[in-house]
Amino acid sequence: MSRTAQPDTRVEVALPLPIHRTFTYRVEGAPPAPGTRVLVPFRRDQRIGWVVGPGEAGPIRGLKSVRDVLDDEPTVTRDVLGLCRWMAEYYVAPLGTALRAALPAVLSDLSRDYVALDGPLPDDLKPRERRLAEALAGRDAPQRVKTLTRSLGMGSIWPELRSLKERRILAHRTVPPAEPSVKKRRVVRLARELGTLAEREELFGRAGRQREAYELLEASGGATELVQLLEDHGFSRGVVSQLQAKGLVEVADEEVLRDPFAGEPVPAPPRHTLTSHQRVAVDAMAAALDEKAPPPFLLQGVTGSGKTLVYVELLRRALARGRTAIVLVPEISLTPQTVSRFRAHFGDEVAVLHSGLSDGERYDAWRQLRGGERRIAVGARSALFAPLENLGVVVVDEEHDASYKQSEAPRYQARDLAVMRARAHGAVCVLGSATPSLESWHNARTGKFRRLLLPERVGGARLPAVRVVDLRVERKQRAETGVRGPARGAGVLSPTLVEAVDTRLRRKEQVILLLNRRGYAAFVQCRECGDVERCENCSISLTYHRVAQRLVCHHCRYEQPAPTRCGSCGSQDLSFRGLGTEQVERIAVETFANARIARMDVDTTSGKWAHQRILGRVERGEVDILLGTQMIAKGLDFPRVTLVGVVNADVGIHLPDFRASERTFQLLSQVAGRAGRGALGGDVLIQTSLPEHYAVRAAVAHDFEGFAARELAEREGPRYPPWVRLVNVVLSSPDQEAAARAAEGAAAWLRQRLARFARRGDDPVELVGPAPSPIERLHGRWRWHLLLRSRSPGALGEAARRLAEDFALPAGDLRLALDRDPVALL
Ligand code: ADP
Ligand code: ZN
Ligand code: ZN
Repeated sequence: MSRTAQPDTRVEVALPLPIHRTFTYRVEGAPPAPGTRVLVPFRRDQRIGWVVGPGEAGPIRGLKSVRDVLDDEPTVTRDVLGLCRWMAEYYVAPLGTALRAALPAVLSDLSRDYVALDGPLPDDLKPRERRLAEALAGRDAPQRVKTLTRSLGMGSIWPELRSLKERRILAHRTVPPAEPSVKKRRVVRLARELGTLAEREELFGRAGRQREAYELLEASGGATELVQLLEDHGFSRGVVSQLQAKGLVEVADEEVLRDPFAGEPVPAPPRHTLTSHQRVAVDAMAAALDEKAPPPFLLQGVTGSGKTLVYVELLRRALARGRTAIVLVPEISLTPQTVSRFRAHFGDEVAVLHSGLSDGERYDAWRQLRGGERRIAVGARSALFAPLENLGVVVVDEEHDASYKQSEAPRYQARDLAVMRARAHGAVCVLGSATPSLESWHNARTGKFRRLLLPERVGGARLPAVRVVDLRVERKQRAETGVRGPARGAGVLSPTLVEAVDTRLRRKEQVILLLNRRGYAAFVQCRECGDVERCENCSISLTYHRVAQRLVCHHCRYEQPAPTRCGSCGSQDLSFRGLGTEQVERIAVETFANARIARMDVDTTSGKWAHQRILGRVERGEVDILLGTQMIAKGLDFPRVTLVGVVNADVGIHLPDFRASERTFQLLSQVAGRAGRGALGGDVLIQTSLPEHYAVRAAVAHDFEGFAARELAEREGPRYPPWVRLVNVVLSSPDQEAAARAAEGAAAWLRQRLARFARRGDDPVELVGPAPSPIERLHGRWRWHLLLRSRSPGALGEAARRLAEDFALPAGDLRLALDRDPVALL
């Protein structure tokens, strides 16, 4: 970009690197506006960064220069920049990583990494290194790391790349990016209108094809794609040229916005009249649209109470006032029904930020929002950063869902950021759920949030009757009656459940079966020596996948062939224990021979639109039994589902985590909520060995308030959120000793300083630990953690920031990760 000869100035640039500071560069002329992307030299590389402000006054000599200014207009809007600053500050993350998380990848990950083999392969490679090297061995040209990672499907390959690079087996280079590509198409457009018939006769005379082409364009709204005219309608290029020569049409390249939903039919919006509860909720929130600083709303509505329609009506009113909206859904591929409802009501106003979009499609959706062509952004977590002006509403649907928390730095909680973003715009924030998070429920009780209730299902449907099947009693009865051989249900589906399913199948109704664990068997154990096959990178047992005949780590995706003998003693007496969805599927197929069964879990939904295909089949009645993990508990609305069976409610209830009970309650309540949504009514059967557990009892009784009150009491001693706030600090290293020592070191460092971080009147910051993390080893790294705990967010933030910025990690391969407001401590 050429600039007139003004004196050079200093500019402050944030880079997407794990370094807690910004960098000062020299730039020609006045500094570009904050939010503008620049290409800058960094170490021996070049990087894309964002201008975040003019540099402080000071000498320019000696500063490196910005190589290029990449935007004419800032890509980051002021609002989003403000939100990112807040996020970086609160979650103690570098501003550059916050910005990267907020933007489409094509704008931020502009450096593209390529690798190629650079030397012979030695014999001593580790298995993962070997797989990677062998994938490269067959290629002449360097391979893009991103593509390679995707095709290998073994998780992040950066550790292996680094170690191969250090050994000079591999060459690595970064290619600076081209501009994000924009797709074009050649369009023929009418340039002059012809009024009278006489005029046409005169112009076209005997050139019948020209006239036909012209009139076809008229009939298609004045424009069509050139290829369509030529290929679909058989006009010659000459005809078009002659029309051009007569000044009747123009041919030009126009930008196309890639929209994968364009081809999807939009159902007509249902014409419902709001129920009285829905109307009260809509009116209250719509009134808040006119307030300067409306408080956030908690929309607590039982499953099937019609929360989506409430959002829709609120959006309609916001749009009518010329405002825009963001709708967050937990995982967009799991919620096709919710998404299609928004598209049905608002059509082309909606940009769907689907996780299955290519980088280009995502960038296009972002540009449409930026340009004001679409005024509603619907998407998961990151839709929160949609570049919308004049925001009126931010909806967080199923606000309790754990997927709102980002698991990598910056580890933000989208629900909390939604509240912040709405506040900055004076927009109405709505958090909706049948089973609100304890935090939101607490905020509603203390008056921070305004609570609106939808206590009934719409259309007179009742909440399903929930019954417990006590697995201990079942087991005893089986033993007493001495039934040996394989009974129907194989001892996994109780007779009660089998009978209930039979009944539904006879009535041509649908059944959902939930088991929150995938694979066939949770672990493989040797009967001789008791050894369990574990992941070589994690302290996790490997899950047996029968169809693939492999053992898989569900954390790092390490895989190995299923063993035929014990890895430690060689015995062939192996037992495959702990139930997974794959096994339940097999049992269901055997038990219900004529039923059409679909399984939905991570293993059956790897394709881009796989979820939608499975759920589409259920919707069309082509599936009798839908079986799956927690995936099938989220927001689905199928009126013919009259039975939900939970195969084992105990999975997860004993996890060493303070949210284990809450998770169990939410999961049971949500999956139960899939039953009986239509006129047919519905039942739920929960198989459990813990019928007395309060999470199970509350789910059986549809008693959210009872559960929440009990859970709140449970978290009083030792104190956990919402009574206090937490920061989980994890120190990790490939060396077990080093991780432990670093954790001790960090704890000692903190103990000396904790008193200083709290200001007068602040609640003190307490330190808990250090101790090994419940998952002691992950991705090949040993993990120790310590917890910071306080009622004062300021003091807690200060302690975390000082630790991140000032504590010097010992030399070696050590990492410190901070997780503020963690969703789990595993
Ligand atoms: P929730 O998200 O609260 O579980 P949904 O928004 O999925 O509930 O609504 C449940 C069902 O009720 C949907 O099929 C929806 O179309 C229907 N519905 C919602 N509001 C009304 C209404 N006022 N009248 C009739 N049907 C409604
Ligand atoms: Zn693993
Ligand atoms: Zn053994």
